Amino acid sequence: VEIQTTSEIQVEEIGGYGGDWLVIDAARVSSRGTQGTGPREITSKADIGLLNALVRQRHTSPFQHGGLTFYVAAPIFVFREWRTHRIAMVQSVDDFAYNETSARYKQLEPLFYLPPADRPMMKREDHKAMRPVYDVADPAKLDDIRSTLIRSYEYAWKSYQYLLGEPSSVAPEIARCVLPVGIYSSMYVSCNPLSLMKFLSLRTHEPEAAFVSYPQWEIESAARFAEKMLETGWPHSYNAWKLAGRVI
Ligand SMILES: Cc1cc2nc3c(=O)[nH]c(=O)nc-3n(C[C@H](O)[C@H](O)[C@H](O)COP(=O)(O)OP(=O)(O)OC[C@H]3O[C@@H](n4cnc5c(N)ncnc54)[C@H](O)[C@@H]3O)c2cc1C
Repeated sequence: VEIQTTSEIQVEEIGGYGGDWLVIDAARVSSRGTQGTGPREITSKADIGLLNALVRQRHTSPFQHGGLTFYVAAPIFVFREWRTHRIAMVQSVDDFAYNETSARYKQLEPLFYLPPADRPMMKREDHKAMRPVYDVADPAKLDDIRSTLIRSYEYAWKSYQYLLGEPSSVAPEIARCVLPVGIYSSMYVSCNPLSLMKFLSLRTHEPEAAFVSYPQWEIESAARFAEKMLETGWPHSYNAWKLAGRVI
């Protein structure tokens, strides 16, 4: 089997529930004691002001009502970064839920990551460990990087096939040891608007943010898709979070 390569990182919305209205209804039970008005578009100044105040003053729990599920197809190294996000809720119940393709129960597909030409990856003179900034590779360097990656992907894939096939017939969970982190995997991710905002604070780079983060390029490109989903589903909460410096 020939290996395939791609630079695409796929993040697609599966479904969601809630919205700004649910954040507002949940927050207002505090002073009203009664049920809110339910699903609606938020337009009033008072409602938008409330969302701003909640974010600014870090009243986080109203943003834990509602949720979003999406499908991600990306290289395994992106998953490793993503899965460090948990958010502890009451009694340490994890808030981000993940289900990822198993390399015990399924042979992985021969799909591997190749960085696109515009992906900055060359170390600069002023490189700093926790604030890495890179330049794009010139065409000759890019060719060299890509052909080195392809050679090593091909070798790894051949070894995987060898171990899985006759006469080796090794358990898939052991055969996978030879595969690199550039191979693709897929997962379902669910989270709530609060956990998503926390995730976006760390996994996007915005020079204007209150706390500037320096995430890896690939997880940032995944995070930017997720950011669009927050913006669409919770537009005023999203604006409030941006106004507060992308922090909650
Ligand atoms: C640029 C960058 C580089 C990184 N490099 C590395 C690395 O080299 N190695 C590595 O291992 N990780 C690394 N990380 C992961 C990082 O250390 C965090 O684990 C990860 O970003 C999740 O952040 P979080 O805890 O804020 O997120 P979440 O787990 O989503 O938590 C959100 C919020 O809830 C709080 N929280 C969550 N769980 C608990 C708990 N049990 N008790 C109390 N409070 C809790 C957090 O403090 C945080 O405020 C890196 C992250 C970034 C953004």
